[in-house]
Amino acid sequence: MSPGTYRDVMTEPTPRVSLWIDGRKTLGISGRTAPVFNPATGQRSADVELASVSEVNGAVAKAVGAAKSWRQSSLSQRSAVLFAFRELLHGRTDELAAVVTAEHGKVLSDAAGEIGRGLENVEFAAGAPHLLKGGFSEQVSAGVDVYSIRQPLGVVAGITPFNFPVMVPLWMCANAIACGNAFILKPSEKDPSASLFLAQLWKEAGLPDGVFTVVQGDKEAVDALLTHADVAAVSFVGSTPVARHIYETGTAHGKRVQALGGAKNHALVLPDADVEMAADAVVSAAYGSAGERCMALSVAVAVGTVADPLVDAIAARLPKLVIGDGTHPDTDMGPLITAEHRDRVAGYIGAGVQQGATLVVDGRQEEVPTGGFFLGTTLIDQVTPEMTVYTDEIFGPVLCVVRVDTYERGLALINANPYANGTAIFTRDGGAARAFQLDVEVGMVGINVPVPVPVAAYSFGGWKASLFGDAHMYGAEGMSFYTRGKVVTSRWPDPATSTVDLGFPRTR
Ligand code: NAD
Repeated sequence: MSPGTYRDVMTEPTPRVSLWIDGRKTLGISGRTAPVFNPATGQRSADVELASVSEVNGAVAKAVGAAKSWRQSSLSQRSAVLFAFRELLHGRTDELAAVVTAEHGKVLSDAAGEIGRGLENVEFAAGAPHLLKGGFSEQVSAGVDVYSIRQPLGVVAGITPFNFPVMVPLWMCANAIACGNAFILKPSEKDPSASLFLAQLWKEAGLPDGVFTVVQGDKEAVDALLTHADVAAVSFVGSTPVARHIYETGTAHGKRVQALGGAKNHALVLPDADVEMAADAVVSAAYGSAGERCMALSVAVAVGTVADPLVDAIAARLPKLVIGDGTHPDTDMGPLITAEHRDRVAGYIGAGVQQGATLVVDGRQEEVPTGGFFLGTTLIDQVTPEMTVYTDEIFGPVLCVVRVDTYERGLALINANPYANGTAIFTRDGGAARAFQLDVEVGMVGINVPVPVPVAAYSFGGWKASLFGDAHMYGAEGMSFYTRGKVVTSRWPDPATSTVDLGFPRTR
């Protein structure tokens, strides 16, 4: 299909979430769509277009043209667009948060929080003139200078999960665009509308058409991007099996790939920890966003005598959490993303009991609003490492407690886990915290900080099955991922001194 045949979305009477190609909303022509739900009501609110291979090809062709001219823009022009985008997004945070809540279900303050954390990446990337500075060495050899430069890759793609429909795209596109690339976003088909909101703001900020593209879709669109010769790099955030597929397919097709996967994050609570503070932190990090965060704490590892008071303190907090529609100001926790996911999470609770764990609070029994995809908060004690509630990423409001008798056993448990995204230690002992920081085999570590998502000046990423590839996301590593280095060696000799020399050039 030629890109010129896209129809304008305004002519379409049904509620459709469209693609965004060449600076405007465009309805796809594949004839395939997926339903989008409001998880708080269970109502289908829209259908999202699912792009075909030929539509992806058309979008990439437009992006290739845009990338060629965008890479010629000056650093100060790019920076100005990022500043303008930052102002627009900051001013419309509440509006965008409502879009997120309507399709994701998280509470409005949480949605605004993810936008705020995403904005940090825009602010960081606006420093491109500083961040893209190269090195210069005068007189590396007689009359010879060397300097390094970083240049954009061309067209790069980002494939993102449902749980952060704003923040994760901003982890990627802010840096990619600041570096002079054209960026193609393939958002989750479960909550796709935020992507179009971002696209509109990029346009209003003055970004040339085609530099930011949205291809809605599923595996077909993803695989088309992964195998397209003109896509130079792919950033992915999602579950581990898909991350592995993205990494293997993308690299097999010669692309630079960073693929962040799933997680099973442990809180290690030492006997000297302030139990009430640890319980507040663990409850916040386990049940915030209904546990649908890759940095959620889903396992509390209780060391020695802290176990009983910790379980009691966590259990005491759960009945006080208000579960309901995320648009209501009193709500603490919203629904899960789909009915299928809610049932899958509930299934894990049953399996945990069958496998011998102790159910302290059963979210299946909790009274929750009807209609939506709600599930109450669950606390499971006496969990052991072979139980499926421990081995699998549940991605719901379920907290497991594993009891160990020593710090060393807790550390060994965490280090034996195949996932290694985030972890947190709760203690008043600085020495123990420092030992943990040194020895734990996890990419992001909190010391009395339950959700240690690095600020934008650092980079985000786990280890082991939580990240495939070498580059973490955003921060300095993001700028490096979206550029490639070039080193120039130059001299301006007097032609009178010129001779033929077949020897290998040596420094003098
Ligand atoms: P997902 O893996 O199902 O989907 C992520 C993206 O991949 C979506 O855009 C989806 O359309 C696409 N996709 C799904 N199946 C595919 C397939 N077979 N082939 C190609 N593309 C496919 O993840 P999700 O359910 O949207 O998000 C939740 C997961 O993301 C959790 O596992 C969570 O831990 C993880 N996550 C990780 C991080 C991190 O930084 N490590 C951050 C957020 C979420």
